[in-house]
Amino acid sequence: MSITSSRARGSRLLSISGWVAAGASVLLLAAGSAGARNAPNVPPPPEHPTKSTQIQNIDQVRTAIKGYYGDTTTTQVDPVDNSVDGGDKALHTFDPNGAYAKEVGKIVTAAERTLKWHRDRKGDGKKAVLFDVDDTTINTYSYEIYSNFVYNPSINAAFVDNPDFDLPAVPHMVDLVNFAKDHGYEVFYLTGRGVAQLDGTIQDLDAAGYAPKAENVYTKDLTAPWLSSCAPSCATIQYKSLTRQHIESLGFNIVASFGDQYSDLEGGFADRTVKLPNPMYYLP
Ligand SMILES: [Mg+2]
Repeated sequence: MSITSSRARGSRLLSISGWVAAGASVLLLAAGSAGARNAPNVPPPPEHPTKSTQIQNIDQVRTAIKGYYGDTTTTQVDPVDNSVDGGDKALHTFDPNGAYAKEVGKIVTAAERTLKWHRDRKGDGKKAVLFDVDDTTINTYSYEIYSNFVYNPSINAAFVDNPDFDLPAVPHMVDLVNFAKDHGYEVFYLTGRGVAQLDGTIQDLDAAGYAPKAENVYTKDLTAPWLSSCAPSCATIQYKSLTRQHIESLGFNIVASFGDQYSDLEGGFADRTVKLPNPMYYLP
């Protein structure tokens, strides 16, 4: 993970916008425009800058991210063993009334309008919605601050793969999931976390308030038959789109797919995509 933007971001955005528009009716655009509202207004720096003025200052970016989330220090301490990090550190979280929470709240309001409208429309299969996990349903801001936005697998595991530690829900997303359930949608979760983290992911979603059906939580199991065309090295877009195809082959119609990364959303097998904000890292 890194806060460095990818060269692919612009082209991805265009392809997602085109895809949403192509399959859209008027109200379908509600979710599409929610995604567009979260489109990056700040262009990524060039991959090979020739002047320092082409790159934002990394400390100022970190400060802006903290301001956007409404950085708040908690009394909860980190889950990393003290023999590794030298002692307990107070964790940070987002402000439930900060800019991040408000922006997600607007996206959720628009998504609920769309799901309510679409509930009564005719379509193929049983209606479903699909959510990514990290920074779509589960918020990892505390980990990013603890690690100063530098990805470290073992430190990350202490936060996300730890039965004694739970990360909070992304604000408003439990309400959205409950709204979807109340309106007859089947709820699926699709994460890039490995299959070894399946039980932990179900536990994390449960602790955050989502009450997931275990059989509707998909982690990256490269032995799954629907991944045979890309295994053993499936890129995120392949893994996620093939898994959505598998879910639809079970008789579901994925009405909306929610993710914080463009790689969560590309590749089809969802009527529309909704991008959640995440300025903390970029995953191709
Ligand atoms: Mg994510």
